Amino acid sequence: MAVKMDFSQFVSGIPAGDYVFQDTPYPQQIQEAAQLLLKADAVLIGAGAGLSTAAGLAYGGRRFTENFGEFIEKYGAAYMTDMYSAGFYPFPSEESKWGYWSKHAWLNRIEPEGLPLYRAVYEVVKDRPHFVLTTNVDHQFWKAGFSDEVIFATQGDYGEIQCEKGCHDRAYDAVPMFRQMNQARRDCLIPSYMVPRCPVCGGNMAMHLRCDQHFVEDSHWNEAAVPESFGGRAVGINADIAGAVRDISEELRKERVIR
Ligand SMILES: [Zn+2]
Repeated sequence: MAVKMDFSQFVSGIPAGDYVFQDTPYPQQIQEAAQLLLKADAVLIGAGAGLSTAAGLAYGGRRFTENFGEFIEKYGAAYMTDMYSAGFYPFPSEESKWGYWSKHAWLNRIEPEGLPLYRAVYEVVKDRPHFVLTTNVDHQFWKAGFSDEVIFATQGDYGEIQCEKGCHDRAYDAVPMFRQMNQARRDCLIPSYMVPRCPVCGGNMAMHLRCDQHFVEDSHWNEAAVPESFGGRAVGINADIAGAVRDISEELRKERVIR
C-alpha cells in the first residue's frame, strides 16, 4: 500500500541528516551544540510547528480522524484532511465555525498538559537567560514552565479570540468559552446563544490567529515583542527535532549541567 507523504510529515518525520548532506557526524554535532550551550550567556529559542508535531500534537493521521470523525462526515473528507486544512474550511455559519474551533482549541490548547519534549527544552535552558520566539499557538511553552515575560508567540494563541475585523486592539481569553462549547456541541454545531459577538462593533469574532490583515497585536503582544537585551553571547536553538533536544539534554547531563 502506498503511504501518502505530505510536506509536514516529511519535515517532522525524517531526520535532516538523512536528506541534507552534512560533513559532521551526528554525535559530534550534538556534542558541539551542547558545548555551545555551556558557553552561552543566553539562549534564544526559535520554535515552529515541527516542535509541536514532534511533541505529540500531530495535526493529521489518526489523531485527526479519531477526533474529528463527525466533522469529516459532515463536511467531506476532501476538505477535512487534517487540522490545518480544516481550519480554512468555509464554515457556513457562526455556529459551525465555533463548533469546529472549540474542538480544535480544546484538543490542541486546552486539554494537553505541558508535553515531555517541551519540558525537556525548558530543562536545557532554565538556568541561564533565555527567550522564546515561536510561531506556535498551542501555549505549550507556558505549560512547560517558561514564564510569560520570556515568550513571544508572534502568531497568536488558540485560547484567545478577537474582533473578526480587528476593530479594536484586544484579544480575549476564550478558554472558559471553548470548554462550554465543547460540552454543548451537537452535530458539529454550537447553540446560537453561545456565538460570541464583538463587544465594540457587535460584529463576528474570530480566533486570535494571524491568518489575515485583521490580526490584533494587543498590548501583551507588543510588550512580549521587546525582550530584555541579552548582552554577551547568545546561542540560538532551532528546536525542531525531538531527537536532537533529547540528545543535547543527555550531553549536558554528562557534563553535569542538568540533573
Ligand atoms: Zn469589532
